[in-house]
Parts: sequence; C-alpha cells; structure tokens
Amino acid sequence: MKASETVDVLVVGGGIVGLASARALSLTNPNLKIALYEKESDVAAHQTGHNSGVIHAGLYYKPGSSKARLCARGRALLVAYCEEHNIPFEICGKLVLATDRSEVSRLEELRQRGLANGLSDIHLLTEEAIAEYEPEARGVAALYVPETGIVDYGEVARHYARDIEARGVTIARGERVVAIGFRKDGRRRVEATTRVAEAKCVVLCGGLLADRLAKLAGIKTDVTVVPFRGEYYELVESRRGLVKNLIYPVPDPSFPFLGVHFTRMVSGGVEAGPNAVLALAREGYRWRDVSLRDSLGTLAFPGFWRLARKHMRMGAYEVWRSLSKAAFTRSMQRLVPNITNRDTFRAGAGVRAQAMRPDGSLVDDFAFEAGEGVLAVLNAPSPAATASLAIGEVIRDQVLKIGAFS
Ligand SMILES: Cc1cc2nc3c(=O)[nH]c(=O)nc-3n(C[C@H](O)[C@H](O)[C@H](O)COP(=O)(O)OP(=O)(O)OC[C@H]3O[C@@H](n4cnc5c(N)ncnc54)[C@H](O)[C@@H]3O)c2cc1C
Repeated sequence: MKASETVDVLVVGGGIVGLASARALSLTNPNLKIALYEKESDVAAHQTGHNSGVIHAGLYYKPGSSKARLCARGRALLVAYCEEHNIPFEICGKLVLATDRSEVSRLEELRQRGLANGLSDIHLLTEEAIAEYEPEARGVAALYVPETGIVDYGEVARHYARDIEARGVTIARGERVVAIGFRKDGRRRVEATTRVAEAKCVVLCGGLLADRLAKLAGIKTDVTVVPFRGEYYELVESRRGLVKNLIYPVPDPSFPFLGVHFTRMVSGGVEAGPNAVLALAREGYRWRDVSLRDSLGTLAFPGFWRLARKHMRMGAYEVWRSLSKAAFTRSMQRLVPNITNRDTFRAGAGVRAQAMRPDGSLVDDFAFEAGEGVLAVLNAPSPAATASLAIGEVIRDQVLKIGAFS
C-alpha cells in the first residue's frame, strides 16, 4: 500500500529548475502545501550536478527571447542569493577567442548581441591585448565579457533544497513518478515509487526525461529530448596556470553548443570541455551506459535523422574526439597552444537534454506547456542553471493561475 498525501502543488524533479520553482511558490504563498518528488537518492543528480559551472552573462541569446531575459534577471538573483547564503562564486570574466580572421566578424556580431542584451561593459581586444587577460591564449582578436562568473550549481541546488525544506516543502527522494492521472474532482493523481499524491497543480521539471513526463500527464507535444553527452578533461595541478579564468571559442552558429572551452572552477581546478556526442542513454555518462529504450527512441525519432544528416561530418568528428585524447587536445590547443596530452586527464561528463521537433529543428528557447492542472517544462537547456531563480518566478506565476491560488 502506497502512502498517500494531498497537496496544493506537486513538483516533479529535484534539479535546479524544480527546486527554484518550489522555492518561488513557497516564498510567494507560504500557505501552499507543496511537495517535490525526485527519483534519485538526492537532488541535483543529473544536469544540475554535471555542468560547466558558468554563470552566463547572456551574450549569445536572441535579444527579447526568454533565454536572454531570464538569464539577465536570473544572474542578478543568483549572485544575490550566493552572497546572502555564503555560497562560493566569482565574477571572473571570460574571453571569447577568434583564432583566425574568418571569426572576427562573428565576434563583432556577438558584441552587438551582448550590447542588445544589456552587457554594456563587453569589449573587443586586439591580438596584443589578449595576453593581459590570458597570457597563454593565442588568438587574432577576442571579446572580453566581464560579467561572466563561476559557481558550483550542485551546491546552489542543495541550498535551494535546504531552504525550501525549512519553509515546509516536503522533498521526497527516491520517488520516481510512474503515472499521472485525473481524479473525479479535477485534481491530478500522481503515483510514484512508494507514494501517491493528489494535487491541484503538478509541475513537471524532468530535465532529460521532460518529454516523457509531459506525455505521462497527457500533454500533447511533438517535442522529443535527444541526449547529448559532454565530456570534460581536467588540467593537472601543476599546469593549471595555463588558464586564468574562462576561455571560449567563437561558437559555430549552425551548432547548438558553445564548443570546447576552458573553465576555472570555484573549487580551484580547470576543466576543458564539453564536447557533444549522442548519448546512448538519457542519463548515461559513459559510452558503456546503454539503454535500449533510450537508444531505440532516438533512432525512431525522424528529427534525429534530419539533424544527423545535416551535421554528419561534425557528428563523426565528435565521436572521434570523444575516443581520441589527441583529437581533444588539438581542440584545446586551438585556444591555448602550449597544452599537451600530458597536461590533462579525463574528468566527468554531463548529458544535455536537447529538445527537438520531428522536422529536425532544435527548440532553442526555454519552453513550457500548460495543460489541465499541469505545467510542463519542455526545454530548459543552458543557461537554465544561471537563470534558475528567474525561471522559478515564471513557473510560479503560471502555477498560481492554473491552480487558481490566491
Ligand atoms: C554538460 C553541460 C554543461 C552545462 N553548462 C552550464 C553552465 O555552465 N551554465 C548554465 O547556466 N547551464 C549549464 N548547463 C545547463 C544546466 O545544467 C541545465 O539547464 C539545468 O541543470 C537544468 O535543470 P533541470 O532541473 O531542468 O534538469 P535536471 O538537473 O536534469 O533535473 C531533472 C530532475 O528530474 C528528475 N526526474 C526525471 N524524471 C523523473 C520522474 N519520473 N520522477 C521523479 N523525478 C524525475 C531527475 O532525476 C532529475 O534530478 C549545462 C548542462 C550540461 C549537461
């Protein structure tokens, strides 16, 4: 017999988005009875605990998009939150490095975009000026973005969790949601591993499983999550001095990811990555993690094949770079030529939830879909960790309407 409970709002998913949503709701309306179900034994087990740890400034996003707006607001809220809760973070700035002349016009486009997104202090650097910021980096020009920072999002999420538990939100760990139905009175009935909840509103923040949760709740969507693993190397301690802060390449506009970059971490190490290979399991962090259901799901999805045909060469190269340390090192050497194979060791990996449509197009912006008594987050890729507190506010406002909570 499963334990049953009645709540106003049930949040599914204890990543940074689910936790921030529960936090915003409990802050605005302390009388709401809120529970959060997370299938793993602790929060932040997936994307939130496996990312680059960058507080994004908001350089890349289309002006006016949710990503641009929520990144700017979320960054300000996050910095204030870290200050208030003594969470280590640093606004250390980053360089976007053009390594050949063909990339310089893209840098200028990025500068314009950054200005449109309110980053008034960004500026272009000449080849000579790069050394003042990153002595070991080599490029023909660079864009300096002083507003970028670093933080450990796993730690931020665990703080959110403590925060909301102290405010009376129940976090049930080890509870996998397996069914979402209706009751006769219009409430939603959510069945998990050992519990059943009846809720006026259910918020689905499932990250890599977002599309499956939405379908479980009866939301009609053609969005499918395709998982892309991003692997990292770390610099050995004696060579950490090769990178002072963050060094990024100029992103390829036809590709959804930012490219292998260097990130100094708040814990002191320096990482290089992530690459982007198709993951054979949605929550699989190594080549040997294979899920038949996930792999067949991707292969049966027409959008994946359309994307694969378009990026065939890039895809093959990514697989090669994942298997060959020498190939990965060459990507690092484009930015910092003095790095050698001996200077790095394999570190962790993360899996990105890339939401796609059947025509092969990528869902670029944050995406939410409301249904009867339910709100589903369908797409919350980077910079969703930076933007988490602002995304939480958006979700809170929608949930207050859906549940008709005052
Ligand atoms: C490699 C990589 C690098 C990144 N770098 C950055 C960066 O530098 N800066 C930045 O801002 N963003 C970055 N991101 C993006 C950021 O990490 C994500 O956007 C963010 O963590 C998404 O949070 P989430 O809560 O939506 O998902 P997740 O953290 O994946 O959480 C979803 C949760 O839902 C749970 N869940 C799923 N299904 C169920 C179920 N049926 N029942 C119960 N629980 C369930 C999962 O167990 C999981 O804990 C990066 C992402 C990756 C992968």
